[in-house]
Amino acid sequence: MENCLFCKINQGEIPAEKVYDGENVFAIKDINPQAPVHLLIIPKKHLSTLLEIEAADCETIGSIFSVANDLAKERKLDESGFRVVANCGAGAGQSVFHIHYHLLGGRAMQWPPG
Ligand code: AMP
Ligand code: ZN
Repeated sequence: MENCLFCKINQGEIPAEKVYDGENVFAIKDINPQAPVHLLIIPKKHLSTLLEIEAADCETIGSIFSVANDLAKERKLDESGFRVVANCGAGAGQSVFHIHYHLLGGRAMQWPPG
């Protein structure tokens, strides 16, 4: 997808700190971290919002969570707790319209999120 930040990062056209690069999913450090660990786990397929996910995408979306587990365990977040969250739509705070899952950890979390 043209003019998409995360498609460009996936293709190496814009630099980012990649922490995982798999067949269908990659992960980067968030440029504006909201916790000591703040990673973005991103499917390589361009989907603008969670509403575009179809049955054929379910294996990829499932792998987001196994990648999240691996990244969390590598950082010892399995012991302290972590959060995986995705914002859908501007009203929920989505600012990049290529879906991504935030992995946050390393500090106490509040609930509900603002
Ligand atoms: P959201 O607001 O849920 O759409 O999340 C978008 C996230 O992308 C925010 O947490 C931003 O800090 C992050 N972000 C924006 N630009 C970049 C970039 N160039 N590299 C890494 N993370 C970015
Ligand atoms: Zn994209």
